[in-house]
Amino acid sequence: MDGVPGRELAGVAGWLYVHYQKFISPTPFSLDASIKYLIAAVAGGVGSIPGVILGSGLVTGLEEVLKGLLPRIFGRTGNYEIIAYGLILVLILMFAPKGLWPFIERYLPKARPQNPTGQGLPTRLAAGQAGEVVLEVRNLTKQFGGLLAVNGMNFQLHRGEILALIGPNGAGKSTCFNMITSVFPPTKGEVRFKGQVISGRMPYEVHQLGIARTFQHPHLFPEMTVLENAALGTYARTRRGMAASMFGLSQAEEQAALAEAYRALERVGLAQIAHQKADGLAIGQLRLLEIARALASGPEVLLLDEPAAGLRAGEKRQFAALIRRLVNEGVTVLLVDHDMDLVMGLVDRVVVMHYGEKLAEGTPAEVQRNPRVIEAYLGEAA
Ligand code: ADP
Ligand code: MG
Repeated sequence: MDGVPGRELAGVAGWLYVHYQKFISPTPFSLDASIKYLIAAVAGGVGSIPGVILGSGLVTGLEEVLKGLLPRIFGRTGNYEIIAYGLILVLILMFAPKGLWPFIERYLPKARPQNPTGQGLPTRLAAGQAGEVVLEVRNLTKQFGGLLAVNGMNFQLHRGEILALIGPNGAGKSTCFNMITSVFPPTKGEVRFKGQVISGRMPYEVHQLGIARTFQHPHLFPEMTVLENAALGTYARTRRGMAASMFGLSQAEEQAALAEAYRALERVGLAQIAHQKADGLAIGQLRLLEIARALASGPEVLLLDEPAAGLRAGEKRQFAALIRRLVNEGVTVLLVDHDMDLVMGLVDRVVVMHYGEKLAEGTPAEVQRNPRVIEAYLGEAA
């Protein structure tokens, strides 16, 4: 049951419900009921299982109390609960937007979180010769309505190198990333990974092949710990499905996934905050955490979309050292960034994009000397 989205689960739930009731009526799904379910979810606190249990308990208990109390207050019977629910919902959203559970949790004794140990997940063989073409885009093109965001891009990424994709804002760099990772299908052209055409596959399939990415704007789960966020990256490498984990049958694999995630945190230097919530991390830490999550998938190719944006000078130097270390460990890197000092001092080769097209390609020194680049890009920044 890998990768079953919530929609399908809701479908199964509805099917079971009808099967069990042998009768369909809209009453259990009325506005009244929806509000009740909404309060049950937000009162305890979405994002934590004890919070949701607390919320449903509270709402069920409250319903009984209100049914007895409200008619006495108003002097006649009626559906007054709905007014009370509305008030409660407003109060919760005003004073405890994260629900009541976080208040209670603060006073509970905390178990000291254990750092996961033991074997990680089985490694995937990054088979291949250094220098061989690992990723290739051919005539890659993306049209959004009347806008040609990417127009006939061609470039190759060789195993073991750091390649930078640079260009002014709106040049089409992120769109290239989105086509390589199959978030968008290309309008024309193709992406090849180790000789195999991968465009047209689902993003998770591309990820499973060994391509991981970070996002220009970090996509993380603030309610989860740093370790849990990193562990999400292991999803592509675990075998057990949702059913097995619901019944606790996959504990050995979960332990291995956590150990793997912890190792990824060690690689990027975040292990000491592994058990902190991701909420409230500084931008530099968020970016490192995104890299750790990508590393936890054991990628051969790492795509980094503006990974150093918002970092301070010292953090940028540390970041460059991290990327060099990862490349020495066997990862191949395709990087988008605006900081020319960082890019030119770090990468082996540069591809320059301008208005969706390739303007130049070469070593940092060659590209920096190229008059077209100077005019189109560096000239613009000056
Ligand atoms: P870059 O990352 O180089 O700054 P992008 O790839 O994000 O540039 O964007 C290239 C162009 O495509 C921009 O003009 C942008 O507005 C447009 N674009 C990007 N994504 C979409 C989309 N999903 N729908 C429509 N236009 C888009
Ligand atoms: Mg971008």
